[in-house]
Amino acid sequence: MATALFTHDDSLRHLTPPGHPERVERAQAMAAALAAPRFDGLVRRASPLAAEAEVLRAHPARHLEAIRANIPLTGFNPVDGDTFMSEGSFDAALRAVGGCGAAVDAVLAGEVTNAFVACRPPGHHAERSRSMGFCLFGNIAIAAKRALDLHGLHRVAIVDFDVHHGNGTQDILWDDPRVLFISSHQWPLYPGTGRASETGAHGNVLNIPLRAGTDGAAMRAAYDLQVWPELEEFEPELILVSAGFDAHEADPLANLDWDTEDFAWLTRRLCEIAQDHCGGRLVSALEGGYDLDALAASAAAHVAELMEHSR
Ligand SMILES: [Zn+2]
Repeated sequence: MATALFTHDDSLRHLTPPGHPERVERAQAMAAALAAPRFDGLVRRASPLAAEAEVLRAHPARHLEAIRANIPLTGFNPVDGDTFMSEGSFDAALRAVGGCGAAVDAVLAGEVTNAFVACRPPGHHAERSRSMGFCLFGNIAIAAKRALDLHGLHRVAIVDFDVHHGNGTQDILWDDPRVLFISSHQWPLYPGTGRASETGAHGNVLNIPLRAGTDGAAMRAAYDLQVWPELEEFEPELILVSAGFDAHEADPLANLDWDTEDFAWLTRRLCEIAQDHCGGRLVSALEGGYDLDALAASAAAHVAELMEHSR
């Protein structure tokens, strides 16, 4: 068994205005890092274009149409104050959704143990009817719905360690008792949601707000105390990961102080729990991470751990 890597060059056609942190160079830095010889064992696959019905697992048709209608012929059209679309953004977003769905299919079919989807735009801020925070569609939430509704799973867990709260994933899955959504994030910080008191319609949401300056040791203590016990008790049949690397100490958009080894530790523990409960089945998708060197090193450490646990 192996680890799959899903990518597509359409992710390079989602352009953002000069100076925007969520930029093409992120995908290029990841690709360069994952081209190193130690990643030769990856099963490399192209992210397919998602069918529109796939997007409708999480978003109403009128929202999909509004996003399609926002595609500019040239330049950029704003979606919100910090989210923009270029001519290639819609297809890139459908590749992000499609890559996550294909990764779920490959893992559940037993073709690979786990998978990483190096997609952009990211997805965890996209609510049911509102795209925001650099995100167009809810990539990982849609993947969860696919695993449940198409593949017939009963319990899917999502762990979101991006430095920002996964408000979109929470919004989409708030009232779905088949999903356990766990998000750790700096708080207060954009988008402002993610208080510990937000627990989902069925107690199926766990938010772990962390103060600015929280370092790796404090993060590990919080995960040991709250996240791992909750995740194990849920007995997931599949673990999905919103892998943002913007909690890195070098990241320009936030103020947590994790390092590359902290992301490796998180990945190791997630893989161990996946092995204990669901045959190692885990799908991880890229969210944030805006310092190019920290992003590349952290994502490489993440993928290396996935490979270590797919032998
Ligand atoms: Zn983020």
